[in-house]
Amino acid sequence: MALSDNYPLVQVPGAQGLWHILSRSPGYSGDAWCHLVPGKDKAMLVDTGFGIGDLKGLVESLTDLPVFVVNTHHHPDHVLGNPQFGSVFIHAMDAPGLRAQMTAPRRELPPDEVRQYNYTRGDLIQPAPYAVETVEDGHVFDLGGGYEVEVFHLPGHAEGGIALLDRKRRALYSGDALVWTPTFCMSSDPDAVVTPYMTVEKFRQGLTRLMAHLDEFDVLYPGHSRLGISKQIVPDMLACCDELLCGDKSAAYRVPGRDKPVHVHGMAKIAFDDNRIHVS
Ligand SMILES: [Zn+2]
Repeated sequence: MALSDNYPLVQVPGAQGLWHILSRSPGYSGDAWCHLVPGKDKAMLVDTGFGIGDLKGLVESLTDLPVFVVNTHHHPDHVLGNPQFGSVFIHAMDAPGLRAQMTAPRRELPPDEVRQYNYTRGDLIQPAPYAVETVEDGHVFDLGGGYEVEVFHLPGHAEGGIALLDRKRRALYSGDALVWTPTFCMSSDPDAVVTPYMTVEKFRQGLTRLMAHLDEFDVLYPGHSRLGISKQIVPDMLACCDELLCGDKSAAYRVPGRDKPVHVHGMAKIAFDDNRIHVS
């Protein structure tokens, strides 16, 4: 059996000194990517995954630089490894959701038969308080040596969702806002509270600012599924939003297992709820 069949964390070398670390799903969601982004003086870790296995130990084996963590949004498949690192950066709108999870007990493990690899409760990073530092749209992280990474606020999937533009590598770390799989502007919970920043309309606003920087990057490294996808997804996603906002709710297919419609334009796909299109 290959290591990757049996381990919660799988490191994949990327272009230009990047490392992509796959945090394997405990069984109730898709595997999630973390990205280790070295500069000259510091390295940035984008997201911390499901919090299963020793992510900090793995990261320290991959770089000698001091490492700081940035979360693309507060959902649990991207943040449960945070307690190992002591402090994290996140968009201000997602800080309350992150703080709410900090000391919440871990979910029960799925039954043995649905687990995709071997792990036990002892492999879970336990909840613990850590420092949360907030950032806003336009914030720039300086990693030294000309490696500067700018925050782009892309609400819609999460209120405080962000993408991170690494100009020197011409790369965008895009979280769950821009992914090969559908961008979810939907909820599995019919009673979920919808706020303005969970809508396609606000997603479109964020994409408009990103479009103005389209000549500064070539590829995207999202939070799930395929890596290194083309930036063509950005104009396609803008068109996908425009069609939904103009009332074209045609669905190319429905999200398997969740029965939500998916609107498609080119590379872009949005899984939507009717109450998450317009700011009401
Ligand atoms: Zn996710």
